[in-house]
Amino acid sequence: MKFNQKITDWYQVSKRDLPWRNTRNPYYIWISEIILQQTRVSQGLDYYYRFTETFPEVETLAKATENQVLAVWKGLGYYSRARNMHHTARMVVEKYNGIFPSSYNELIKLKGIGEYTAAAISSICAGEPIPVVDGNVVRIFSRIFGFNAPVGSTRIFKDVKQKSTEFISDQDPGTYNQAVMEFGALFCKPQTPECSICIFKKDCFAFNHNKVDSLPVSKPEIKKRSRWFNYLVIQTPDGLLMKKRDAGDIWTGLWEFPLFEAGKLMDDKEIIRMASNEKLLTPDANITIFKKDYRHILTHQIIHARFFIVDVETRTIKTASPELKIFSREQYQKTGVSRLMEKFITDADLF
Ligand code: SF4
Repeated sequence: MKFNQKITDWYQVSKRDLPWRNTRNPYYIWISEIILQQTRVSQGLDYYYRFTETFPEVETLAKATENQVLAVWKGLGYYSRARNMHHTARMVVEKYNGIFPSSYNELIKLKGIGEYTAAAISSICAGEPIPVVDGNVVRIFSRIFGFNAPVGSTRIFKDVKQKSTEFISDQDPGTYNQAVMEFGALFCKPQTPECSICIFKKDCFAFNHNKVDSLPVSKPEIKKRSRWFNYLVIQTPDGLLMKKRDAGDIWTGLWEFPLFEAGKLMDDKEIIRMASNEKLLTPDANITIFKKDYRHILTHQIIHARFFIVDVETRTIKTASPELKIFSREQYQKTGVSRLMEKFITDADLF
């Protein structure tokens, strides 16, 4: 089986027409790769357009404030990606005179660029024959060649990398890498792969041994930690009161409503007591509990969230914390918030 030839031939006729496929500019390839790290193409496409329109060159991204970058990223989640991009753009301007590197050895030194992204950019933009290995590629190779080490293990990474290095073309490694990624996205999908019409079905180990559902071998499940977030939504005539999250926890630097984390979801009396202690409310405040609670799942945590809404007449809220700020609708639209926050604000129709 000529794996390389077969998959690149398939790619030439079956690939989707995506904007980052019409460029070899490493800055644009980098943006697409970072967006697509945790995001489907259908969702990422809009963000790609928005990001490249707002920051058409690495200099514009470097000059932006963190808040401007997070605002364009709003809704995509995993905000450390946006922060790393911002940091990297500044580094490229300072250390590389604004010329985005395209060689693996330079790319790998940049923040937020790991082996996969460096291999993708360098193969597409500089023709370096370094194979990409991610969950997609592991799935395809595990199925076709019968690799049985668990996903996420060093062993499977090495097996796949070694095998793919045998196949990658010296002439056009970028097309080979993109073909493998596209095949995983369109054909050898995690659920319901297109085996019946697959070009590899004659040779595919999983298909011929009835193991399509059991390959790749899953990694042991991580136990998620539960947390209970009680949010106080204070509506003032000028907008909503919000606070910036500190470093060292999830959603660093994003804005959210004043939060009371506890071992459970609170009732209205408890939140009023806590909020009065912090001089956010008076003890006689009239509070409403939002009609539904949220269960927001992150990689390592499950966030149970309840929102308490209160209207205040005053335009000046005197609080103990200088980090609190009132956001108007316009300001909110330019601000980075977590996906949980965004969901609630939409559900409650607050702006
Ligand atoms: S036959 Fe099925 S499992 Fe094997 S490569 Fe094709 S789509 Fe994937």
